[in-house]
Amino acid sequence: MAKTQLICSFCGRKRDEVKILIAGLESHICENCVEHAREIIEQEINVKDVKPGADFNLSVKKPVEIKKFLDDYVIEQNEAKKVLAVAVYNHFKRLQHKSISAKTNEVEIEKSNIVMVGETGTGKTLLAKSIAKILNVPFAIVDATVFTEAGYVGEDVESILSRLLQVCNYDVAAAERGIVYIDEIDKIARKGDNPSITRDVSGEGVQQGLLKLLEGADVLVPPQGGRKHPEQKLIKINTQNILFICGGAFNGIDKLIARRMQTNTIGFNVDKEHQEAVKNNLLSYVNSSDLKKFGLIPELLGRLPVVTYLNPLDSSTLRSILTEPKNALVKQYKKLFELEGITLTIEPAVLDFMVEKALEFSLGARGLRSICESIFTDAMFELPGTNQKAFNLDMEYSKRKFDSSKITLLKVA
Ligand code: ADP
Repeated sequence: MAKTQLICSFCGRKRDEVKILIAGLESHICENCVEHAREIIEQEINVKDVKPGADFNLSVKKPVEIKKFLDDYVIEQNEAKKVLAVAVYNHFKRLQHKSISAKTNEVEIEKSNIVMVGETGTGKTLLAKSIAKILNVPFAIVDATVFTEAGYVGEDVESILSRLLQVCNYDVAAAERGIVYIDEIDKIARKGDNPSITRDVSGEGVQQGLLKLLEGADVLVPPQGGRKHPEQKLIKINTQNILFICGGAFNGIDKLIARRMQTNTIGFNVDKEHQEAVKNNLLSYVNSSDLKKFGLIPELLGRLPVVTYLNPLDSSTLRSILTEPKNALVKQYKKLFELEGITLTIEPAVLDFMVEKALEFSLGARGLRSICESIFTDAMFELPGTNQKAFNLDMEYSKRKFDSSKITLLKVA
């Protein structure tokens, strides 16, 4: 009698096609199916077993306190801090009010998603991250440049919500009142002035995709992010209570603002002083119409009612950034040396030198770190393991190290 060939009862593979075949009462399972089953269980548990809103606590600081907290981490940018503090506070009020008004038919407060406009490296992401520190709602940061219109190579916009879900361990109820920071929103501006002559799948196409998310709708989200695969189980999230904060550099927007402001100030009684002040502070006058001219579609702007700005960083701000924030660069280096038993002192002129170089090479605040690295690396390499107990950073040493670093190659002739 021919011996019956054992097979996996789940996928049908024969004994010699698999490594392991585990026997049950009347069936068998192979290692591939065990692994597949494990994945399914994990997904199901992630989605279902988290108690919705278990740790939801609506206690939130007052706007003044939120701003004070931001002051510890972010230098200047007071206008943006105020706007953010109010928006986040109202977001919480809204959530609180929502549960009451749902029962009593009262006025509903609409959410106010925000756009922050400011040169790169002025603290937009830092503000968003710092806000996240004081909140007890899930918070995710995503980059608009990775998205394309559904069906094209790139991520679908729904995966923005996948990040939020991942942050709160797939607690759908918590994700539904979270905050999302979308960076580089200016990079999805419409490519030309005319609405799609050719398809604009990473610009206008993405903006169209975002509309649904921003206005508050039921959205089907792939749990792992990326593209929607047919075999992936999608999770339904309602975005009505999710606050969206967008940030972008909007290079060249100052020219658009200038053009608009000029057309507004034509007349006989033009105040020269006022005009000068406007010219020096153009970004502070930014509004939705400038963003529309830049290439954001009106429907999207309608869902981003609050527009605020961040100032470019001048030398005194850069100087403060080096030393003042809670985790300022200088504090970090002092700590690193201290951990080696070395006391680090830095001559004040060196700090001015660092700022001067950051400005000279147009590196902004982000460049301060590279400048510090170029000056400190050799000392951090050589000193550990020696008996040296103190290190004083003076101008002569700093200049020498900086001049021999690769940063100097960045200078445009
Ligand atoms: P953006 O998002 O505007 O491009 P970031 O927030 O990522 O810029 O800033 C880059 C880095 O520069 C931050 O990690 C921080 O160290 C520093 N930085 C920028 N602006 C500020 C600021 N206003 N206060 C303190 N640090 C700042």
